[in-house]
Amino acid sequence: MFLLIISHAHNTNNKYDHNNNNPQISKQAKLFMDHSQQIIKRANAVWEKAIKIGDGHLWLYFIFAICQWLPTNHRLFYQDKSPFQRDRCQLCLNGSTEDIQHTMLICPALNTPRQQLHMAVHGSLKKWDLPFLNLQVDRKKKTTGFFQKISLEKFKQQIPVERLSMLSEDFWNGNSHKASVPRVAFIDVLRKTLADHKPVTLLPESLIRVLKKHLRLCVDGLSSCLSHSRLLPEW
Ligand SMILES: [Zn+2]
Repeated sequence: MFLLIISHAHNTNNKYDHNNNNPQISKQAKLFMDHSQQIIKRANAVWEKAIKIGDGHLWLYFIFAICQWLPTNHRLFYQDKSPFQRDRCQLCLNGSTEDIQHTMLICPALNTPRQQLHMAVHGSLKKWDLPFLNLQVDRKKKTTGFFQKISLEKFKQQIPVERLSMLSEDFWNGNSHKASVPRVAFIDVLRKTLADHKPVTLLPESLIRVLKKHLRLCVDGLSSCLSHSRLLPEW
């Protein structure tokens, strides 16, 4: 399996940029190139464990997981062209494609087992008394703080500080499902948005409050990231 992945990665190696990004390469090969040492170590550990306890399924599960072939709806209905959207998650109402990332990290219907897993891992770490156990990195706060800082340097004259803060939050919300939030892209996207922006008439905030309260509005229509109201969650 690894020989196949390595071979694929090697054949397309010259097409990579410095971030290992290449739309032509398979995601299996990309994963292996990004984490080759970890995958080989983990493969050895799982192989040993599978032999030790005589469980062949353990090894098969590992192969399917590392190749991203676990039977999610996205995988099972990959070729399905019907209008029934069979690749969507049936456990939640997000309407998202059910892939590994959605299942493991995002799906709200799986919050409880995810929390149980987190608590079990935390309990084991506590038992071993590892240092920095309670040290947590707030990825959202760190990333949106970075967006605000770089956008303030470049767009302070054109965009109010409060709107820059909202833009940072919006960009995070739109990209946080990705394995890596594209930090560098934020400024480019913002620059393009500013160039394409057409001024719209804004409703007073007091009126939006009234409409929201009495008509239960939650969507800001005909708006954009530079003009939507902070009172309405969707736009
Ligand atoms: Zn779901």
